[in-house]
Amino acid sequence: MANDIFCRIIKGEVPSSVVYEDDDVIAILDISQTTRGHTLVIPKEHYDSFLSCPKDLMQKVYAVAQRIGQAEVSVLGAKGVNILTNVGEQAGQSVPHFHVHVIPRYTGGEGGFQITMKGQDTSAMDLPRLAFDIKKGIK
Ligand code: AMP
Repeated sequence: MANDIFCRIIKGEVPSSVVYEDDDVIAILDISQTTRGHTLVIPKEHYDSFLSCPKDLMQKVYAVAQRIGQAEVSVLGAKGVNILTNVGEQAGQSVPHFHVHVIPRYTGGEGGFQITMKGQDTSAMDLPRLAFDIKKGIK
């Protein structure tokens, strides 16, 4: 039975700043605010990541993320929002319980969040073959 930090927050064992809650989903302020209002949207039932979360629940999580992003724009004055989820340690996931980051972005670049990975040189890649292989794997 999983007992990560988000499971413990959901069980009420660890305090958090709750932004939104319903039967299936909770949203809390991220403890390290990348920008003011940085929120995490989390399914109450434990799934390790976006990839293992059932579709219905995943859609509920993203529906809440959309509403929070809208509130960050209307209430906090954000000019943009990053919506992202990390899957696996290699992608930067540090808490193994599916969650979506909703990160408001402001004029002037408060926080300096950016995806730093550079694009790869595609000249030696067989892109049609790559697309074909991925297509085959889509269930
Ligand atoms: P990730 O690295 O994508 O797995 O994101 C995990 C996020 O959880 C990080 O941004 C952390 O700052 C955040 N976090 C870790 N512990 C807590 C906590 N107790 N309350 C709120 N956010 C947390």
